[in-house]
Amino acid sequence: MSKTLVVRNGTLIDGSGRPSLRNDAIVIEGNRIKSVGALPPDVALEDRRSVEVIDAGGQWIMPGLIDAHCHVSYGYPVIKGEGKGRGTTRPEFSTLKSARNVQKVLRSGVTSISVPGGTWFTDVGVRDAIKLGLMAGPRMYVAGRMIVSYGCIEDDEPSWEGTPDHSVGKLCNTADEMVTEVRRQSKHGVNFIKMADSRSGESQMLAKEEITAVVAEAHRRNLRVGIHSRGAGSTRAAAEARVDWIIHADLATDRDLEAVAKAGMPIIPTATFLAVVVELGQKIGAEQVQLDINRMKRHFELLCELMQKARKLGIKLLVGTDTGNNSFTPHGDLHAKELEIFVKYGGYTPMEAIVAATRDNAYAVGLEGQLGELAPGKLADLIVLNKDPIADITVLQGGTHLSWVIKDGKIVDLDPRNEVLTFQQAAE
Ligand SMILES: [Zn+2]
Repeated sequence: MSKTLVVRNGTLIDGSGRPSLRNDAIVIEGNRIKSVGALPPDVALEDRRSVEVIDAGGQWIMPGLIDAHCHVSYGYPVIKGEGKGRGTTRPEFSTLKSARNVQKVLRSGVTSISVPGGTWFTDVGVRDAIKLGLMAGPRMYVAGRMIVSYGCIEDDEPSWEGTPDHSVGKLCNTADEMVTEVRRQSKHGVNFIKMADSRSGESQMLAKEEITAVVAEAHRRNLRVGIHSRGAGSTRAAAEARVDWIIHADLATDRDLEAVAKAGMPIIPTATFLAVVVELGQKIGAEQVQLDINRMKRHFELLCELMQKARKLGIKLLVGTDTGNNSFTPHGDLHAKELEIFVKYGGYTPMEAIVAATRDNAYAVGLEGQLGELAPGKLADLIVLNKDPIADITVLQGGTHLSWVIKDGKIVDLDPRNEVLTFQQAAE
């Protein structure tokens, strides 16, 4: 039988938006929170055989962070000797890479991630390995390869090559092909379908009828649909087709955003990736990042405007970072950077940013109402910090101020020496 876990003392930030307050005890039984507030009389702290106590005196307790946009099976890290291109990359290697990356994520205080796209069904495998207790890792809510048509993001090869099996895009040029792919991915255990329009929104590549067909098939099979959409046309089409969330939406006009507000789905702006590219480009030179820095800067500014507009229109924003999508977006480092951007540029208070990354983000992992708040009956994912994130939202970044991480009612081992898979290759 597992012990009752009691987190005593500390200042509670419960994820609901209520002001921080001194707390006596959080009592956890199994993977759920039993009580928050005064220690219940039936919990005997001196019975150390059945009760474990954490003293969080002088520290801050909040729900585990959720990253609504994190990739784990491609991009970071680039490993010397890893098979790449021409189909030589192998799913078995990719699975181990994903397993390595999710450990970093969990140890940085991120207890859940939504994974909008990866290689083969590797993330499905890693998700299940965590769920079944083979390894430690965050809760994962995963998509498979992104459904794209000719010219969309991730359709990188000429038409006579199509999208090879090791691509994270899956080429489907008709609604019928898309529906078949939804069925295939459903059979292989994904939680949601990721569609992806053009890379930077310059033109609309997916027709509204195609998005509608995917949504109908996915919803019938209890899968959600998220879409990469920077453009105005694709954002409006996605809103009208009732996708479950829209990623980016930077080029959406006010009228398109009104359509999103009316349809009621959240947007995951994902400004972190752009901020990282711009910072890195200034440091090491645009050519080396291999991305158009000025365009990235423009996208970033548009997203900051979007954050302000969304509030006025009542569109909920979720917190995602695109961690892991590239060689310079390491796992564990960036998951809370988006909160800093929300506060610095989006007009959010630190408390509002925390609510977005916890209670609201639970939607992106299919656990709304169950996760992201510290209250009786909720899933017991929480972190204890030695600095106050309300006073300085950046203390959430990189896991450097973590004292404890608890996921599913269990204390996470934060010692990196105990990781099962490590990346030991020296930087060259
Ligand atoms: Zn992404």
